[in-house]
Amino acid sequence: MVGREPKNDFYLNNRSWMHFMKKYFFRSRYLILFLTTTVLGDSSNPPAPQLNLETETEPTFFVSKGLDPDGSLVLNYQRGLNYAIDYFGNYGPFYIYLLGPGNESDLRDIYRKRARSRVIPGNAIFERQQIEAFLDRPNTVEEINAALVGKATGGLTWSAPEKRVYEDVTTNATERVKDPIENTWGALHEYHHVFQVAHSDSYQERSSEANLNSWMLEGMATYSSAKFMERMGLADFKQYMMALRVSGANIGHPGINEFLARVKDFRLDSESHWDQGNAPQVYYMLGAWATAYLIHLQEIDEETVLKHWYLDVLKHGKTRAFTDHMKLTPKAFYLKFDAFIRQSDDEVVRIFDSKPANITICE
Ligand SMILES: [Zn+2]
Repeated sequence: MVGREPKNDFYLNNRSWMHFMKKYFFRSRYLILFLTTTVLGDSSNPPAPQLNLETETEPTFFVSKGLDPDGSLVLNYQRGLNYAIDYFGNYGPFYIYLLGPGNESDLRDIYRKRARSRVIPGNAIFERQQIEAFLDRPNTVEEINAALVGKATGGLTWSAPEKRVYEDVTTNATERVKDPIENTWGALHEYHHVFQVAHSDSYQERSSEANLNSWMLEGMATYSSAKFMERMGLADFKQYMMALRVSGANIGHPGINEFLARVKDFRLDSESHWDQGNAPQVYYMLGAWATAYLIHLQEIDEETVLKHWYLDVLKHGKTRAFTDHMKLTPKAFYLKFDAFIRQSDDEVVRIFDSKPANITICE
């Protein structure tokens, strides 16, 4: 079934999702390398589109048959997606897959359509090969199998620059049917990633100048989604930020306080906790607080932090873009933030009592 409106992915509370994302991401790079070296050398192919431009194409939903009889699954995703698109702009094409068990032939049909949406135009044989190659990929097979038994996997993915599509894949969307709040929350979170990926080189290392660090990617999306949820009347932002310290909230355990008590030499810009997979959730939580620091203590305009500074990453490199917009170097910021975040709950929460420099968001 195909819907036609705005909507997102299940990052929350799901370590396996994060591991999957990592696997998927790295494998996609090899596929892209293969495609670029075997196909795109052909001068008859059109030049790669500019990925940092907005599109006219509206987001498209693919929902497993029988999963959303009253339409609320899509509607609850859409309310988050619409908000995020109003804020960040319309990037895409963006496809949202809300999948679940029940009808295998329907599911396989959806995956064939998905494969087709990624095809880099060429001759018919080459196009068919791409479809089959996508359907044969271990990640694709894994996802289909997960969806058939209603197991959680998937996440935000994106295809080669030559035929860029963004995809939010949820294989256990029955959970989202039962939890409209998380459904909306997930949509907000994932769409921030669409915007981030459009304005950086996602094929570089996260430590590189052209790509974003894990804390920027996950932390800013964690901050923005919680903030937007509050503006939509669906969450209490301050309470949520405190929960990230105390319990880990909907991101995972341990929370910030327990993690920092254990790890004395944590550095926000080190990718080791992500790469080694032992505590990837800290980038979400500490990153959200780092974002809060920039907005509420450094008093940088919210839209600058969540949106505008990204626009200079590819142009000037991450370090200069950050320094220009945040009014301090990343290095200075990491030092200041480290001292800040190690204070008590009562002390850090005070940053939300002072008014941010300039709020220009539509309510
Ligand atoms: Zn995320």
